[in-house]
Amino acid sequence: MIPIESTQSNTGDELAHRNAPHIGVLAIQGDYERHAAALEESGAQPSLVKTPEALAELDALILPGGESTTMLKFLNRNNFFEALKVFAQQKPVFGTCAGAILLAKEVRKPSQSSLSILDIAVERNAYGAQRDSAILTLDTKLPGGPLETVFIRAPRIVSAAPEVEILAEREGFPVLVRQGHTIAATFHPELSADRRVHQLFVDLVHANSHAGHRPE
Ligand code: GLN
Repeated sequence: MIPIESTQSNTGDELAHRNAPHIGVLAIQGDYERHAAALEESGAQPSLVKTPEALAELDALILPGGESTTMLKFLNRNNFFEALKVFAQQKPVFGTCAGAILLAKEVRKPSQSSLSILDIAVERNAYGAQRDSAILTLDTKLPGGPLETVFIRAPRIVSAAPEVEILAEREGFPVLVRQGHTIAATFHPELSADRRVHQLFVDLVHANSHAGHRPE
C-alpha cells in the first residue's frame, strides 16, 4: 500500500480507499466476519460473497474455515463451484482450513470433490480427537519472528508438488503454503491478532494486479 501522509484529510481517505484491493470473503458458513475484519486491518476493502455473480467485482477472494462438506453442498448449486474454479485460476485466492481443503487437488479421509487449484493432497481432521484443536507458536518464513497458529479440526497437508512453496510447518507437515497467486493455511490466522498472514495475501493481491496492468 502507498503510505498516506495525512489519513485525516478526505483526499487521503479517498486515495487509501482507491488503492485498497477489493477482496471478497465467501460467506456461506464459518468465520467469515473475522476474515473481513482482518482484511480491513490489512489495508483491503472486504465484502461478503454469497453468490457467484458477486465474484465479478473482486480482485481476490478468501475461502474461510468451516465445514468443507457443507460449503461444497452450497457451491454445487447455481454453478457457484464452476464460477469459483474459473475465478481461482485467474485471481488470488486464500483458503484457510476448510477453505484449504476446497482448494486442494486431492482430498482424503474421506475423499471429496475440490477445486483442484493448489497442487497439494490433504487429509481431513487428521490431527486426531485428542489434539484436534490447538494453539501453537510456529516458526515461519514470514519476517517478524514466530507466529501464533490456531488449529481447529484441521486438515493435514500430506503432500505438496515442488512448485508449492512451504512457508510454515507443524511436525514436519506444511501448514502455510503458496503456489503462484494461491495461498492456503490449515490454521485460522483470522483468530489471532497477528495480521502478517492476511498482509501477505493483500501484498500478493497488489503484486498480482500490478503485474496484470503492466504496460506492454
Ligand atoms: N474439519 C473441517 C473440514 O473437514 C475443517 C475445519 C475448519 O475449517 N476449522 O472441512
